[in-house]
Parts: sequence; structure tokens; C-alpha cells
Amino acid sequence: MILGEDGKVSIEEFEVETKTSLTKVFAVEYAHRLLHHLGQCHNLHGHTGHVRIVMKGPVDPKTGMIADFSDVKMVLGGVIGLLDHAVVLNSQDPLFDSLSGHDLSIVLLDDLEPTAENLAEWLLYRLNHEITGWVDSGEGAAGDWSGRCVTDVVFAETANNAAACTMVGCVINDE
Ligand SMILES: [Zn+2]
Repeated sequence: MILGEDGKVSIEEFEVETKTSLTKVFAVEYAHRLLHHLGQCHNLHGHTGHVRIVMKGPVDPKTGMIADFSDVKMVLGGVIGLLDHAVVLNSQDPLFDSLSGHDLSIVLLDDLEPTAENLAEWLLYRLNHEITGWVDSGEGAAGDWSGRCVTDVVFAETANNAAACTMVGCVINDE
């Protein structure tokens, strides 16, 4: 197997295009309820969720990395941490009025139910916003993150149930 500079891998008799990505998983403990749900999920309850992110971008020829895993945690961990040990609610949920003012971490989704689907999309946008801000700030601690973006967020509410949000076409220079 020969990896050429053009990103094509020659495996004996045929060539395949490759696109490298990295994945990282963050654990998140959170409480939520679904305002409009007619079943059990209407009750306030908690989950030990896992957020799997997929980041694409060029592999730095010197480091051999898209990004250092510890830098991914440093740059993006704070965004996912917003949900950790927080109560996540639909902004229309009257429960917010009862819970506010008690020094609780509360995250409101703008007229959206805090489902795995909506949380995956909520995170996808915020994570890429964070990357854009990081690149624009010129901070050098995490190296050059130009061209990196989070293309997928898989939000696993439980071990068996997950939803994914995928960016169709990476907006940050992903050839
Ligand atoms: Zn739930």
C-alpha cells in the first residue's frame, strides 16, 4: 500500500480516494424533559449521554494529525460542557420559571424539544462556531486549525438510542 501526496492510496491493482477524519467521544450527564411528549419522556429525568464528534480537515504533514486529541478537548470541550450536569429544556417549557433563580445550570433550546436529534444539531453548529472563532483569533496553542470542521455529531442519549446530525458539505475549506 502506497500513500501518495495526492491522497490516493494504491492498493496493488486499484486506487481509492481517501478522506481522513478523527473522532472523539465526550460523556455528558444531563437532565431534560420533552414538553410535548405524551409518554414517560414528559417527566423530568436524567441521562448519561455520549457525544461522538467527527472532525475532518487536512492531516498536518509534520504532526501527522488533523488535530491533537488533547487540543480537541481544550477547544471544543467547553461547548459540550455546557450540557454537562445541566437541565436542558424547551424554551417554551413553564418548568423554566420554577427552576430559575436556584443557581442551576439550565440550557434552553429555542422553541425546540431537547431530543437527541435537536441536541446533535445544536452542538454541530456551536462546535463549528467555536472552531471558526478559534481560527479567527489566531490563537496558536492548538496549532493551525484552518480547514478543520466538525462534520458529524452523534448524540447517544443511552447505550441503545442515538441521533446524528451531519453537515452536508463542509463549509470550512474541506476539499
Ligand atoms: Zn430522556
